[in-house]
Amino acid sequence: MTDLNQTLFDRARQVIPGGVNSPVRAFRAVGGTPRFVKRAQGAYFWDANDKRYIDYIGSWGPMILGHGHPAVLQAVQKAAMDGFSFGAPTEREIELVEALLKLMPSMDMVRLVSSGTEAGMSALRLARGATGRSKIIKFEGCYHGHADALLVKAGSGLATFGNPTSAGVPPEVVQHTLVLEYNNITQLEEAFALHGKELACLMIEPIAGNMNFVRASVPFMKRCRELCTQHGALLVFDEVMTGCRVALGSAQSVYAQSIPGFEPDVTVLGKVIGGGMPLAAFGGKRAVMEQLAPLGPVYQAGTLSGNPVATACGLATLHEISKPGFFDALSAKTRSLVDGLTQAAKKTGVPFSADCQGGMFGFFLLPELPQNYAKVMTSDSPRFNKLFHGLLDRGVYIAPALYEAGFVSSAHTDQDIADTVAAAEEVFASL
Ligand SMILES: *Cc1c(COP(=O)(O)O)cnc(C)c1O
Repeated sequence: MTDLNQTLFDRARQVIPGGVNSPVRAFRAVGGTPRFVKRAQGAYFWDANDKRYIDYIGSWGPMILGHGHPAVLQAVQKAAMDGFSFGAPTEREIELVEALLKLMPSMDMVRLVSSGTEAGMSALRLARGATGRSKIIKFEGCYHGHADALLVKAGSGLATFGNPTSAGVPPEVVQHTLVLEYNNITQLEEAFALHGKELACLMIEPIAGNMNFVRASVPFMKRCRELCTQHGALLVFDEVMTGCRVALGSAQSVYAQSIPGFEPDVTVLGKVIGGGMPLAAFGGKRAVMEQLAPLGPVYQAGTLSGNPVATACGLATLHEISKPGFFDALSAKTRSLVDGLTQAAKKTGVPFSADCQGGMFGFFLLPELPQNYAKVMTSDSPRFNKLFHGLLDRGVYIAPALYEAGFVSSAHTDQDIADTVAAAEEVFASL
């Protein structure tokens, strides 16, 4: 039988660089042929050969309700009938922003954009404009989109090619970006002691999902907050992945449970808040946000920003996940997957560690959870690749790279989880 994925991939490679429109989709890390998706429903998608997969990527996070949720579909269809884009404001933009403000009280105002990259880039400009400072801190293994200043030893797709930075980014553009080790308090304190007065912001993925799944420890996060406050730098939470995914109130609500009164100054959002449509956002306190054009001197704009179909999709998604018990059920489901995989690894003697929060999880073929990027990269990658392909053959689709997190949706059934664990046990036994 001809592999129609291969046929499509061959054709795609003639006209699209690498055959894909985002590098990690190309399977470069794990080898083999990318699956071309024909359609998706609930927790599944079907590839070009009509083979079904249980989907643990969910478009890299947005599909928290699974694919084709009826209420979301209806909202999108209705919005599309009323027009795709106007370049003029709509009521739904206010509704979406009001919904976000309710979930994340750290923000007074929000600006909507179309991608996480755009949101991160704009938040960075805003932080620099609001503070009048240039230097920023980011952490190795955290990904904040592909804006020039943030492509410094970034994670995700870049790691596939083993490049610490991208070509095409002039050294002058990243000379203000300090890259520190995640969870390293000593380095953090040194950086602030040296550059505190010049720092516009510290940007962080509070639970890093672009080096698999690594939590910022509570003491580390507490120190980030204290040092930013002391030195007048803004604490920018990149919650593009964790926002409305690890908890209804996002990762900031998780840290607020351990650190009384905890809040970031600026929050960057994407993925879940658009429910699978191109929509992202950044927000913060009124005084900071009022620095943005047309009120203030920090310029930022977008032809499709606050797109009416995307806001309808995002609003319907937020409505569903805000229902009582949604996150408890999703968290329990994700936990049962992680526990099942851990048991399966134990039975087969494979070194394994795993963690999860809400509907996001990560696992490592390592005996202990790593705390930073260098540790993550000590994972056994040939072994991971065998695991990936073993699961893929058995109809389970996890991220095609060991430094990516996984996602469970409310559409995953207990049977899906049990089937996944059974498949994993078979593959573990063969590793
Ligand atoms: C996905 C992601 C981005 C980039 O978002 P895009 O919509 O892909 O541009 C930024 N930051 C984090 C933490 C992400 O996970």
